[in-house]
Amino acid sequence: MNLHEYQGKEILSSFGVRIQRGIIAGNHKEAVDAAKQLTAETGTKWYVVKAQIHAGGRGKGGGVKLAKNLQEVESISDDIIGMMLKTPQTPPQGKKVNQVLIAEDVYYPGDSEPEEYYMSVLLNRATGKNMIMYSTEGGMDIETVAEKTPHLIFTEEIDPTVGLLPFQARKIAFNLGLSGAAFKDMTKFVMALYMAYTKSDSSMFEINPVLKTSDNKILAVDAKVTLDDNALFRHKDYAQLRDIREENPIEVEAKAAGLNYVDLDGNVGCMVNGAGLAMATMDLIKQAGGEPANFLDVGGTADAQRVETAFGIILKDRNVKAILVNIFGGIVRCDRVAQGIVDAYKNMGDKITVPIIARLQGTNAKEAKELIDNSGMKIISATEFQEAADKVQEVLTA
Ligand code: GDP
Ligand code: MN
Repeated sequence: MNLHEYQGKEILSSFGVRIQRGIIAGNHKEAVDAAKQLTAETGTKWYVVKAQIHAGGRGKGGGVKLAKNLQEVESISDDIIGMMLKTPQTPPQGKKVNQVLIAEDVYYPGDSEPEEYYMSVLLNRATGKNMIMYSTEGGMDIETVAEKTPHLIFTEEIDPTVGLLPFQARKIAFNLGLSGAAFKDMTKFVMALYMAYTKSDSSMFEINPVLKTSDNKILAVDAKVTLDDNALFRHKDYAQLRDIREENPIEVEAKAAGLNYVDLDGNVGCMVNGAGLAMATMDLIKQAGGEPANFLDVGGTADAQRVETAFGIILKDRNVKAILVNIFGGIVRCDRVAQGIVDAYKNMGDKITVPIIARLQGTNAKEAKELIDNSGMKIISATEFQEAADKVQEVLTA
């Protein structure tokens, strides 16, 4: 689950990570109140108005702006709230901004140049260890740094059973070229950051930039936090941080129906049982000259009700030109699933606007095929994997 910057920062702060402070606002009036309160709390003279959307690169898209007084806070907030913000990480039409974070200005105007660093904490699946990635090249797109100057990106691996050791935090501060008070503050920052990462059961933290202020404090100016959905049951308070306005509406609906669905860009919808078979089916569709429109694992109980829900969700995607059903009857019997497909088809009537190719293999596959072929429905049956692919190709080119 992805969080907004302000939510991520709240989590960081709760574990003692120093952050650029801010107050969330949903309209320009709240923004001015937030600015006043922020000055009362921090003494800040200037503010940064930051669009809250689930995408990075907001600065480049005009979603992060400096405000030098309350009038500017008001007018900038008014401009940003409600806008469709386009960044390299949003869909082409952009994302609607519902809220702004009014943050203290931590780049202290007139002082010497502050330093920006990059830091992320994530799981390295290859080694089974956690990893801190960091760079002196903060504030920039890290993919660009990785491409042009890969030697400026460092990694520190952390054994999750041992945890981050103090010497590792010192090494990070050293590699970032720090000394004195800033060196000490960076080691504290890194230790707290790693603690926050493990204690919050996150799967990724990305802090870009981490800032060294002109008075040698280290703090998080930005925060991109991804929580591990599988651990949310341990964090009831985090579960409420979900902002479904930021999520794909079809995926939200599928999740509510208990389906494992991921929306993709292609034209062939798939309904499959089992994640592995779903992956193989997506490959199959590509080989047949199509592109998968989704990943959908209907799970073990593919009865009529569930199949109907699944069809309904697949068909919400306007790009779908055909649906490939690929079921392996291991625990579930193919004839039961076939009956489910036929019943669902009957119930949905003219709501089904694209050809359906159904391949069922495993227990009672023969009965399933007969059931489909004799149903009088326009469902194309297949037995073999390749045969199913060929039939998909046929309907796509027809
Ligand atoms: P992103 O563009 O979505 O990654 O958003 P960030 O939170 O990283 O902000 C983008 C940029 O805004 C930063 O890299 C900074 O250069 C700038 N910025 C952020 N906070 C401040 C601030 O307090 N003062 C000033 N002057 N600039 C800031
Ligand atoms: Mn950033």
